[in-house]
Order: sequence, then C-alpha cells, then structure tokens
Amino acid sequence: MALLDVSGISVSYGRVNALKDVSLQVKEGEIVTVLGANGAGKSTLLKAILGAVPLKSGGITFADRDVTRAQPHKRIAEGLVLVPEGRRILISLTVEENLKLGAHMRRDGTAIAGEMDAIYARFPNLAERRNMLASCLSGGEQQMLAIGRAMMAKPRLMMLDEPSLGLSPLFVQKLFELIVELNRDGLAVLLVEQNTGKALSVAHRATVLELGRVTMAGDPKTLADDPRLQAAYLGAG
Ligand code: ATP
Repeated sequence: MALLDVSGISVSYGRVNALKDVSLQVKEGEIVTVLGANGAGKSTLLKAILGAVPLKSGGITFADRDVTRAQPHKRIAEGLVLVPEGRRILISLTVEENLKLGAHMRRDGTAIAGEMDAIYARFPNLAERRNMLASCLSGGEQQMLAIGRAMMAKPRLMMLDEPSLGLSPLFVQKLFELIVELNRDGLAVLLVEQNTGKALSVAHRATVLELGRVTMAGDPKTLADDPRLQAAYLGAG
C-alpha cells in the first residue's frame, strides 16, 4: 500500500472548483512531483493533504490510516509535513528558535536535541548562525531553515511547495541535491515546482494538474518527452 493515497479529492473556494476528483499516490522512498501552471491547484492540493483546507469529496490515507478528517497537527504528528510556499520563517526569531518550532508537536526532549544536532550537521551554515536572527539569512539559507524546521517534526513524507522560487541558480542546485539526499536517507517527497526540468530530473513519478484536474501522470522521462508538456512547461514547442 502507498504511504500517501489521495483518492478522488475535490476542493472548492466558494464557486471556484480548485481541485476536481484528484487522485495521487506517493510510495515509501519515492519523489513525486506535481507540475502545472499558476492557478492549476498545486498549492491547494498540498494544503488539502495537510488538512488545512476542507475537502468537498474524496479521501486521504497516510501510513495505512484514514486521515481524511484528521486535524493538520495530527497529520504532522504522523509524519506528514509541509514546507509552505514563501518559507514562512519567523524572521524576528533566531535560527534555533525557528528549528524548535518545528518540533512543537513532539514531547520526546532528548530525541529533539539529537534531531537538532543532525540538522546542524547537515546544514553547517545554520549551525554557524544558530543564535542569529533568521532575518540575517540569505533567501537560500532561509529555505534550508524551512526544510530543517520541517525535519524537526521527524517526517516520513515531506511536501514542498515551490521551494526553488526566488533562489539563485547555485542555491537551486543545492536545494535539488538536498532533496535527493533526504530521499536517499529514506524520506518520501511530494514536490510542487515551477522548475519543471529540474523537478522531472529528480522525480520517480510525475503528475500534471490543469485547472484542478490531473491531465497527465506517469514516468518523468516519458512526460519530459511529451510534446504537450514540452510546449507548456519546458519552453519548447
Ligand atoms: P500558484 O502556483 O499560483 O500558487 P497553484 O497551482 O498553487 O498556483 P492554487 O493556489 O492552488 O494554484 O489555486 C487554485 C485555484 O484556486 C485558483 O483559481 C485560485 O485563484 C483559487 N484559490 C486559491 N486559494 C484561494 C482562496 N483562499 N480563496 C479563493 N480562491 C482561491
């Protein structure tokens, strides 16, 4: 059974049908990417999986449990986390205080300290700046902090909403290397990206959303060669 199973979900904002009968799976050990134009419903999909927007219909299971009606904090405690678009770092807090916020669902104090050490080992830049305000970090470092904060919740599946947005090419490269590394260490990833080429290069499977519906899904190499996708998202055609 898949780690995450999204089955026929629909979401509306008033009269706007943002998601229409969307199904998607993420298996253990996979990177799955969701592609689509602005307004296609990608962010809404991640918010719906987290439980931050209500479903009109459909269901979601995570780690063999039906979480369709579970509050977001319950899903986070199960290991389903979201790194939101725009990072949402608290710039008036220090790096370390931001990291601690990521663990606020957890009660196991010693494990939290161990997690923090592991994150500092992975992100030496954050370790050096642990007592500095997050506002002092570059955009790329803030994105690393957002990912580090999500790691503090001990995720089994990390959802990332446009993590490369606004980053320099060097940081985009580092970010994708990090995603691959985290995945190799056992983390499943659901990645929403505008950087279609890079996303397809790291993903095991891909899904394309258009106007709230899944229009293509499958192997990233096949999708990358598809003329429709090339014309729409890869700057060809
Ligand atoms: P982007 O990349 O621009 O964030 P997206 O693919 O993530 O786009 P969503 O943000 O999920 O798309 O938006 C899907 C649709 O729902 C759009 O038509 C959008 O205008 C609408 N929408 C999103 N959030 C709201 C909201 N809070 N209230 C009303 N309509 C919304």
